[in-house]
Amino acid sequence: MIVFTSFLISCLIILQNCYAENNNKFPNSQMNEINYSVFFENPHTHYCEVEILLNDLTRDSIIFSMPVWTPGSYLIREFAKNVEGVKATNSKGEQLNVEKINKNSWSVETKSQSDVKLMYKVYCNELTVRTSEINANHAFLSNAGIFMRVKGFENKRCVLKINLPPEWEKISTGLVRESEKVYSADNYDIFIDSPVELGNQNVLEFDIKGIKHFICLAGKGNYKEDVLIKDFKTIAQEEIKLFGGEIPYKDYTYIIHLVEKGGGGLEHLNSFVGQMVRWSFTDEKLYKRFLGLVSHEFFHLWNVKRIRPIELGPFDYDTENYTKGLWVAEGWTSFYDNLILRRCNILNNKEYFDFLDVEVNDIMRFEGRFYQSLEESSYDTWIKYYRKDENYNNAQVSYYTKGALVTMMLNLELIKSTGAKQSLDEALRMLYEDYKRDNSRGYTDERVREVCEIVSGKNLDEFWKKYIKGTDELPLEDYLNYAGLKLINENDTLPASLDIEFKIDNGKIIITKVFKGGTAYEAGLNFNDELISVEGVRIDGEVIKTFMKNYKTGDELSFIINRQGLIENIKVKLQKPLPKYKIVEFEEKTDEQKEIFEKWISGNQKSNR
Ligand SMILES: [Zn+2]
Repeated sequence: MIVFTSFLISCLIILQNCYAENNNKFPNSQMNEINYSVFFENPHTHYCEVEILLNDLTRDSIIFSMPVWTPGSYLIREFAKNVEGVKATNSKGEQLNVEKINKNSWSVETKSQSDVKLMYKVYCNELTVRTSEINANHAFLSNAGIFMRVKGFENKRCVLKINLPPEWEKISTGLVRESEKVYSADNYDIFIDSPVELGNQNVLEFDIKGIKHFICLAGKGNYKEDVLIKDFKTIAQEEIKLFGGEIPYKDYTYIIHLVEKGGGGLEHLNSFVGQMVRWSFTDEKLYKRFLGLVSHEFFHLWNVKRIRPIELGPFDYDTENYTKGLWVAEGWTSFYDNLILRRCNILNNKEYFDFLDVEVNDIMRFEGRFYQSLEESSYDTWIKYYRKDENYNNAQVSYYTKGALVTMMLNLELIKSTGAKQSLDEALRMLYEDYKRDNSRGYTDERVREVCEIVSGKNLDEFWKKYIKGTDELPLEDYLNYAGLKLINENDTLPASLDIEFKIDNGKIIITKVFKGGTAYEAGLNFNDELISVEGVRIDGEVIKTFMKNYKTGDELSFIINRQGLIENIKVKLQKPLPKYKIVEFEEKTDEQKEIFEKWISGNQKSNR
C-alpha cells in the first residue's frame, strides 16, 4: 500500500491528540485549518453544495481529491462520480484555472493567490450506511463521499459550517461541536470518519459515567423509546466493562435510519450508522438481531477503530488498502456481538445458540471453506466478498462468519488450556493495552498470535497454519465438546433435497444458487435455470418444498427446465442432502465442561468450585 511518509508522521501526532480537550475556538487564525461549508439550496433535488476555503497559501497549485472508498466498507465506490460543477475562485471572486487530473482529483492553479475557494455540488440519492442521501425530509452525509481531501493538508484541522434549510432543526454527528452549526475534527481522517444526519430526527439521550450518548432515529418506526435507551445502554456498559471500564470518547452518536427495507451498519470513531426496517421493532427475533448489530458496531469503536490491523490507518483514499487482518477486525467482532447480548441477558442460551447455528451453517454446509482461507478472504474482499456472485458459497468464505467460528475455537482453546481461568477476553484487553501504549500503529498478525500464546501458554503455530492461513476442516465438534456442547445434523434424516436456492419471479421458479456437492450441482442444473416440472408435475413454490419428501437418496427424477429460452429434460439422481447443523448441550456435563462453558458465556470464572 502507498504510504505518505509525511502524512504518517503527522498522523502519529494527531492521533495521540485525537481526544485531547480541544482548546481552539472558532473562528480562529485560518493558518492551521481548512474551512468546509455545506449548503442545501434545493434538497428535494438530492444535491448539496460544498465550499472549501483555504487561506495563507504559498503554493503554485493545490490538488483536491474525492476518496474512492470509505473506511470500514472495502469496495472502490468512486464517490467522485456524484461530483458536478467543480470551480475555484480567489478572494476577489475571480475564477482560477481548474484541471481534472485523474478520475477523482482536480488541480487548482493558485499561483500568487493566498486564498482559494473550491466549490462543487454532490448528487446524493442512495441511502445506505456508506453512501449519502439528501431529500426534502433530511440529509445523511457519509463524509468520504461529500468532502474532498486537500492533498498535503490531511493533518490540518477541518472545520465544517452546516447551513441548514430553515425547516430542519437538528444536527447529529460525532464531530466536535464548536458553536451552533459549526463543527470540527482534528484532521481529515477524523472528519470523514464522522457522518452527519440533518433534519428533524428524534434524538434520545443517555449517560454512562457522565458521558453523553445520543440515539438519533431518522424516519418513522414502531420502536419504544424507553426500551431502546435501556437496551443500547446495557450493551454499551457490558462492552465498556469488557475493555476495562474506561470510556475512550467524549460523546457517542448512534445514527439509526428507519427504512422500508435494508439493514447493516458501519462503524466510526465515536459514532455508527445502522439501518432497521421501520415496523420490525415488535418482532422479537428481528429486534434482537438489530441489537446484535448495535452490539457489533459499538464493539468496533475498540476493535478496528482503535485496535486495528497495521495496514488500516493512516489510509490511502485513492486506492484499495489491503489487509489479511479482517478476520480479527470483523471475525472477533462477530464472535463478541451476540456473546455480549448473552452476557447482559438480552439473549438466553438457546437464542445465543440459534444465532451461532446460522454462522456454523453459513460455513460448514458449503465447500467454499476448502478453497479460500480466512487471510485470503480478508485480502480479496475488495474483489470478492463485496462483489459476491451466485458461486460465492462454493468458492469463498466470509471473514465475518468463518472469522467468528475460528474465534470461538480460539477462545475455547484459551479457556481450556488455562483451566478456565483466562479466555480471549484477556487477549483482547492485551491488544487494547498495546493501543493505549502506542496508538500510532495497528497490530501485526504475529502480535495477535503472540497475545493468544501468552494467554494460553501454548504455541499456536498449528492453529494459525490450519484455520487462519489454511483451509483445513474446522473441528468444531471437538472444540464445542470442551464446553459440553455438540453439533447435530438436522438433515441426517431428511430423505432428499435439491440443494439449491431459488426465487419465484412472476410464478416462475428460477434457480439463484446451486451448491457444490449437492444433487442439483452434480446433475447439471444451473444458476438461472427455470424449473418447470418434475416427473410430469408442474413445479411451484410449494411443490418444490414438499415433493422431494416422497423420494430418497439414489432415486432418479426427470426435470423439464427452461434454459435461456430452450426447453431441456434433465435427469437428476438424488444425493444425500447437505448438512444443516444445530448446537445442543450435553444432558450431563463434567465439571470441567461446566467451567469452560461458564467462562465463555459470562467472562467470569466459576467461583467456589
Ligand atoms: Zn463489522
